[in-house]
Amino acid sequence: MPRDNCGRCSILYVSDVSSVYILGVRVDRVTFQQTLALIETFIAQGTPHQIVTVNPEFVMLAQRNPTFRQVINQSALALPDGIGVWWASRYLGCPVPERVPGVDLVVRLAQLSAHKGYRMYFLGAMPGVAARAAAVLQARFPGAVVAGSYSGSPRLEENTALVERIRAKDPDILFVAFGAPAQDLWIARNLETLSVPVCMGVGGSFDYIAGVRPLAPQWMRNLGLEWLYRLITQPWRWRRMLALPLFVWYVCWSRWNRKNHRLVNHSLHL
Ligand code: UDP
Repeated sequence: MPRDNCGRCSILYVSDVSSVYILGVRVDRVTFQQTLALIETFIAQGTPHQIVTVNPEFVMLAQRNPTFRQVINQSALALPDGIGVWWASRYLGCPVPERVPGVDLVVRLAQLSAHKGYRMYFLGAMPGVAARAAAVLQARFPGAVVAGSYSGSPRLEENTALVERIRAKDPDILFVAFGAPAQDLWIARNLETLSVPVCMGVGGSFDYIAGVRPLAPQWMRNLGLEWLYRLITQPWRWRRMLALPLFVWYVCWSRWNRKNHRLVNHSLHL
């Protein structure tokens, strides 16, 4: 059974993870360290696992896309990525211990790859961006193993060739940056055939790591104000960002209504 490897706590087993359902969408109550320990277990097991990084936009998309909701709820790990889900879990009385932002996890996994030799594949984003993100991470963590990178697309016509291309490189970790929900639906559709132990949708992470898009300054990230930074730097996304106030409204309504809100123990079958 895996241990939390923070070094300070005694023994923390992470085989049982509890989850909170926010508007019917699962979010796991895990810390960053537990997430890393679980990912290491997934790789040791060798069987395919899907990881999703849940933010308010995911939750709102899942309200009108039942397939997306099912993919999130059946994933191996549904991480509390956004400040909105962190707030909602608290507001609903089932707090997640901390945020596990996808972009930070990609960076940390690259560091782990340098120590453990995990093979990473970078799929998605605009042509050249995945390769650049991989190169940035390799420069930062010498020894990190890049099995491959490719921009590709989630289109059905490309599916078979894309899956074959990735299988040929036999990665341990596959990062997919097609944006949500396309990336997560693509992973779910191909998870078994890909046979990669860890497949994770990473949204705009490659853009941030490659420096194509600016990441909010650390103080804004600490305050959970990435959404404000995005609104200022990418004002054309305002329509998409309406998901956040809508999410807040629905969460308040759901608490008032005591609906869609339950805490369950979710067994990860390690
Ligand atoms: N993207 C892609 N193919 C598509 C749609 C999007 O490769 O068909 C990429 C896009 O270039 C970006 C990433 O998907 O690198 C995520 O974009 P988005 O702005 O949606 O990221 P998020 O808001 O989820 O961080």
